[in-house]
Amino acid sequence: MFNDIIKFGRELLIQGINNSHSGNVSARRNNTIYITRHGARLGDLSYQDFVPVNLKDDKKDKDASVEIKVHRAIYLANPEASAIIHCHPPHAIALSLTCDRIIPIDMEGKYYLPEIPVIDECVAETLPQILSKHKIAIVKGHGSFAIGKNFEEVYLNTSVCESISKIIVINKIVQMTTRLNDPPAGGVGQTNNSAAADKFVQTGPEEISG
Ligand SMILES: [Zn+2]
Repeated sequence: MFNDIIKFGRELLIQGINNSHSGNVSARRNNTIYITRHGARLGDLSYQDFVPVNLKDDKKDKDASVEIKVHRAIYLANPEASAIIHCHPPHAIALSLTCDRIIPIDMEGKYYLPEIPVIDECVAETLPQILSKHKIAIVKGHGSFAIGKNFEEVYLNTSVCESISKIIVINKIVQMTTRLNDPPAGGVGQTNNSAAADKFVQTGPEEISG
């Protein structure tokens, strides 16, 4: 279990999904939550970075990540969840500032995560209920919380969430650039982009799905 967390924590940093000191990760085993300590760097974790705390009370929380209350509330509301990754994926955070949900426009994104909810605050009462219906959610301007049965699944959904967001952002840039440069007939992507760009102009930045 710890080896998986260390491996995927490093991947989050390498893939640009999380920055150096952000985020926290936990695993639940029976009535114990193993969560990263306050200030731990997810890209360079060791066994000493995991703090065992109680599932049902905060008596051992002293050295744990400040987000332990949210992790605990999520586990209590979702008994099937055994793993949580909270991190700061930049493109997803950027999109979250102007929308209340992210809808993928790429095929893989639609398959894995048809809708990613965005909530206004990291409220321990709100997020657990949302994560009982969705595999991942974004706290507006803050970061993602993903839950699952193991770290492979949770890392996958976190990675796909950021990929979905990156594709939306790149697509917006392509649409705007296409309109500005008015490429010649037969130019790369011109046929689809013109219609998409018109839609973007009509709907404005609130329509995040593009
Ligand atoms: Zn955070």
